[in-house]
Amino acid sequence: MKIVVAKTAGFCMGVRRAVDMVLDASNLSSDPIYTYGPLIHNPHVLAMLEEKKIFRIDKIPEKGSGIVLVRAHGVPPDDKKALEDAGFTVIDATCPRVVRVQVIISKYARKGYSTIIIGDEKHPEVVGLLGYAKGNGHTITSIDQLSTLPRFKNAIVVAQTTQDTGFYDGIKAWCEAHAPHYEIFDTICGSTEKRQAEIRTLGKENDAVVVVGGKQSGNTKRLAQIASQTGKLTAHIEDVTQIDYEKLSSVGSVAITAGASTPNWIINDAYVQIENNLQRQHPARVLLFLIRDFLLKTNIMAAAGAGFLTYACSVLQGIDQNLHHAVIAMLYVLSMQILNNLFTVKPDKYNHPQRALFYKKNRVCLWFVAVLSGVAGLSLSFITTGALSFFILFVMSLLGLSYNFKIIPLPLKKGQIGRLKDISGSKTILITIAWGTVTCLLPAVANQSNLLSVAMVFLFAVGLVFARTAFFDILAIQGDRITGKETLPILLGEKASFRIIQYVLIADMGIVFLTFFTDLLVNKAFFLASIPFFMFLLIKFFQKDSLIPGVHLEFFIEFLFIAAGLTAILI
Ligand code: SF4
Repeated sequence: MKIVVAKTAGFCMGVRRAVDMVLDASNLSSDPIYTYGPLIHNPHVLAMLEEKKIFRIDKIPEKGSGIVLVRAHGVPPDDKKALEDAGFTVIDATCPRVVRVQVIISKYARKGYSTIIIGDEKHPEVVGLLGYAKGNGHTITSIDQLSTLPRFKNAIVVAQTTQDTGFYDGIKAWCEAHAPHYEIFDTICGSTEKRQAEIRTLGKENDAVVVVGGKQSGNTKRLAQIASQTGKLTAHIEDVTQIDYEKLSSVGSVAITAGASTPNWIINDAYVQIENNLQRQHPARVLLFLIRDFLLKTNIMAAAGAGFLTYACSVLQGIDQNLHHAVIAMLYVLSMQILNNLFTVKPDKYNHPQRALFYKKNRVCLWFVAVLSGVAGLSLSFITTGALSFFILFVMSLLGLSYNFKIIPLPLKKGQIGRLKDISGSKTILITIAWGTVTCLLPAVANQSNLLSVAMVFLFAVGLVFARTAFFDILAIQGDRITGKETLPILLGEKASFRIIQYVLIADMGIVFLTFFTDLLVNKAFFLASIPFFMFLLIKFFQKDSLIPGVHLEFFIEFLFIAAGLTAILI
């Protein structure tokens, strides 16, 4: 079975901005935080906000305190003023595209124009827009209703931003025929148009469409309507528990789309579950998928990657490729990654719901594996690599263990003791340094390699690991914001992070190409430039929406580290 995910699925710019604004406020302020009305129509996001003690108010009290966030739909200007008068600090997260419609209505209302709004009068965005019409606004949801309105001397026509474009075209045609003096504005949001156009195409090209999103969300319901108009089997689900696999099992291809208020982790979860239940009909495929998922969830894949990278680093430096360095790196990474996942089961449910469940179910066993592999790595180092290498590994292990414990004074919060992971951006940097140390420095120390060669190979290794870790952080950005983690992409922004990753990978390619001009690395080292090159391509494809996030992408990225070791074996 073929499964495709719509490129436009998930949070739109306005929703994402509003969610980011309320999470930033919650992470930075100790004041009570409220949203005026539900932030978005998605029960999972609302439950997550309540967990973070962000509550909603539906009525404006006479007196209040704390922060109130105006959601992406916007509110009538009177409501905003009433919130401020009551004593709240108002953060206005009205989507800039909704603000544009508010400005149009306000401008023409001042000139005495009537306003005709295409949309449900109870929809919060429409309620907000009406507030700008100076009491001369009218809402309609059908051409019949439009024809019963009086013919206004001067009027503007606007659509609520998530209206169906086909329907609005009909409204425009009616106006041109019956009230050509009305001024019509194209106010349907580009993101909505694209989402609807894509689902029309996907509906035609596939046998079934699964629309993921809140049952109360207007734009999600509209997507489901459009999908069912294509005549294909359509299912509107809020989460994976509502998928009817029996119905879907008879089709050859499924398209998954999601409303503007559906977070990434729910879309990814739907993809994985449909793939798990329907795409694995052939026994060989079932086995392959099971192995892949197991290797990723248990971090064996990441650990193997560290081992192969160690081998590649040793080859590059011309070190005798004694395998115990690779095994030590594997055991260290396995131990640290499992421990980290064990400590982050709760927040992980937003980024990797399946992995979080796996760690919850197999907690005891995974603790045992983490401790055992950590001790085994240290013992092997003690026996084979000499005192200095053992000492470095020991310190690295202590650092890794302390990452989740409150032991250090926080630089930005005087007098407070925190965890290493509370330091902004620390995760990406510490993982990069830890991997660079075990994959490159430990073998170099044990073999007393040339310092310049070590420096070049270290930069090559940390470049790859940095790109991998920062890219995974970008994929997890929504969940990390929710849980208050300040990863590098959250600090720097997604665009800047992508740019940095790309520069780092280009520099990585440059480092191994330097072998043409120096004899610091082994001959043919330039073949290893293929690894940052392929990582660069994968990330570029992802940016261009040609690859969807999820287990496939994670597997490809992790596999590149194994490919580095295999390439080193061949040169
Ligand atoms: S659908 Fe468009 S107008 Fe509405 S919140 Fe999203 S980006 Fe803004």
